[in-house]
Amino acid sequence: MQLLDGKFVAEKLKLEIAEEAASVLAVSGRKPHLVAILVGHDGGSETYVASKMKNCEKVGFKSSLVRYEETVTEAELLNKIDEINQDPGVDGLIVQLPLPKHIDPEKVTEKIDYRKDVDGFHPVNLGRMMRNLPCFIPATPYGILLMLEEYKIETAGKHCVVVGRSNIVGSPMSILLARNAYPGNCTVTLTHSRTANLSEMVRSADIIVAAIGRKNFITADMVKDGAVIIDVGINREVSESTRSGYKLYGDVDFDHVAPKASWITPVPGGVGLMTIVGLLRNTLASAKKEIYK
Ligand code: NDP
Repeated sequence: MQLLDGKFVAEKLKLEIAEEAASVLAVSGRKPHLVAILVGHDGGSETYVASKMKNCEKVGFKSSLVRYEETVTEAELLNKIDEINQDPGVDGLIVQLPLPKHIDPEKVTEKIDYRKDVDGFHPVNLGRMMRNLPCFIPATPYGILLMLEEYKIETAGKHCVVVGRSNIVGSPMSILLARNAYPGNCTVTLTHSRTANLSEMVRSADIIVAAIGRKNFITADMVKDGAVIIDVGINREVSESTRSGYKLYGDVDFDHVAPKASWITPVPGGVGLMTIVGLLRNTLASAKKEIYK
């Protein structure tokens, strides 16, 4: 078994991003600028946003955080998005999910100017992704592609089973891995909670992408010898043994699955760190007007 080491790859790619950010600054006189909107005080969201902001600073981007209480109205939030859309000093805008129940996430996603949609959730970006056109790719699947590329994992002709069909991870991942590209050219099976014979399906996979949100869901008996395992899950459990007061678990039973795998991502230290790289790459591409002029 070999580790797909998100920490190592992320650090390496962030150095490259930092170099490019420095040349953007030298040429244009400004740093790539990411704005994040955070509504409420969800523990997970606070951690993710803080980490995104910190990583922006690390690679020489400007980052701004716009905070709202849970009580913010949908109209207020949409107005703010409009304002940021029109600000030429902003390259990327993300709204951290989940949002409170009274705010429609679809309206929020569609309100973001697709040319600043560095999370890649806007229908224009998703549509362009479907058609294999230049676009912002959702950060987590993008990070996974970068990791597969870095370790030169062979994907063509492989059977990939994606577990989970969310708009932000599972569905885009399945489209990207089926594309005529590298990494890609897989035969993809997209599975979900209504899939019959899930274990059998997963057992037939050369590559497994687990994006379910349930601790240790993928067990050793569901994995074929030599499979490549990408564990997207981040399941937080309260713990007295850690400084932060919680511990993270993936969707894969790492201890028992790893001995059967050819390659596997750890949690933490795997996909989560690569997601940030995906976001930084999209923000840089936006600042350089590589995708939309
Ligand atoms: P969602 O809750 O949006 O989607 C979960 C998916 O898993 C759904 O498609 C659901 O099926 C499926 N599912 C749930 N239970 C089962 C089951 N028993 N059998 C088969 N499929 C099942 O989650 P996300 O995609 O947003 O996130 C998934 C995990 O990845 C979470 O732990 C999240 O924290 C983590 N995550 C990690 C990121 C990272 O950077 N590492 C980034 C984003 C998410 P159905 O559609 O039928 O309900």
